[in-house]
Amino acid sequence: MNHQPTPQTGKEKNPNLKKISGITMESIGVLMTCPMHKYLEQQLETHFNLFRLWHCNSSITEFLKTHQGNTIRAVVGDTNIGADAELIASFPNLEIVASYSVGLDKIDLRKCEEKGIRVANTPDVLTDDVADLAIGLILGVLRRICASDEYVRIGKWKDADFGLATKFSGKSVGIVGLGRIGTAIAKRAEAFGCSISYFSRSQKPFANYKFYSNIIDLATSCQILIVACALTEETHHIIDREVIDALGPKGILINIGRGAHVDETELVSALLEGRLGGAGLDVYENEPEVPEELLGLGNVVLQPHVGSDTVETSDAMADLVISNLMAHFSNKPLLTPVI
Ligand code: NAP
Repeated sequence: MNHQPTPQTGKEKNPNLKKISGITMESIGVLMTCPMHKYLEQQLETHFNLFRLWHCNSSITEFLKTHQGNTIRAVVGDTNIGADAELIASFPNLEIVASYSVGLDKIDLRKCEEKGIRVANTPDVLTDDVADLAIGLILGVLRRICASDEYVRIGKWKDADFGLATKFSGKSVGIVGLGRIGTAIAKRAEAFGCSISYFSRSQKPFANYKFYSNIIDLATSCQILIVACALTEETHHIIDREVIDALGPKGILINIGRGAHVDETELVSALLEGRLGGAGLDVYENEPEVPEELLGLGNVVLQPHVGSDTVETSDAMADLVISNLMAHFSNKPLLTPVI
């Protein structure tokens, strides 16, 4: 995710949201946990009484020195800073956490449930972008797009041809988590003539896709393994040494889920030792830190957690956050409720 204030935005103001609001919400205290998308910030500022946690060194203790904790009735978080137990306990009048993300791993859902705090996220609107990037990472790794781009830029082409890459079309693709994003990736990979198999908690109604109830069997059977599941206690380090070894020295791992799905130490040693063929990564265990060893590897393509970061999708996610807040404070059903 891009946490810098984004200069580009498709829209400056959304007049429809003004219409939805109808009633005054300017006095409602909303806390944004970190910079996300400029348009979202503008919308929150327009419609609510916006507080920015990063103006207090991202410290709740600092925030509470200068602001009343009971002013905050809504929190807008993202994949960087969500709503953990400390934050939830600090705001006694908190009613809703509206996340600028589909992933819920930075929100203490149990605490929210206990306290009757509502939670909303931004599903569907980002699905296409994340699936597109997954395909981009596959092509980047197999067709060596970054390396060949550099080859042209630094003038090496004049000395010799670039050499051969690896074909994507027709490969077998395994997907961990056939949810919204996993299914969108499967559809795209099908168009490349790939066979699709997957591992999820339950079998899905797709006759063309082979279901594995065991992730090792999935990794053994495919050439490209894509992680697209939710991060939970169960899926933390779901990609461990055993899975990596099952994928093997010609296998490619793509992670557009969350960094903690993969045991990064094992991933790095498998790549260094040639036990894994390559990797395309959008997410890391300790973002924005990326293991130094990965930076020198030609069979790895790295992205800075930008799966959903297009102007169009970021605006759509922002609109959904605002619409959920407005629905909540107008006593209407949330558009995309989690709790
Ligand atoms: P979704 O529709 O809820 O799909 C989540 C999938 O995870 C489901 O297929 C679910 O399987 C699977 N899953 C959950 N627990 C599992 C377990 N223990 N074992 C195996 N599979 C499990 O969510 P989505 O919209 O596709 O998003 C998926 C994830 O992508 C998000 O949670 C987020 O972390 C990540 N994401 C990343 C970016 C990025 O920028 N890189 C952007 C957006 C989202 P069942 O259906 O069988 O339960």
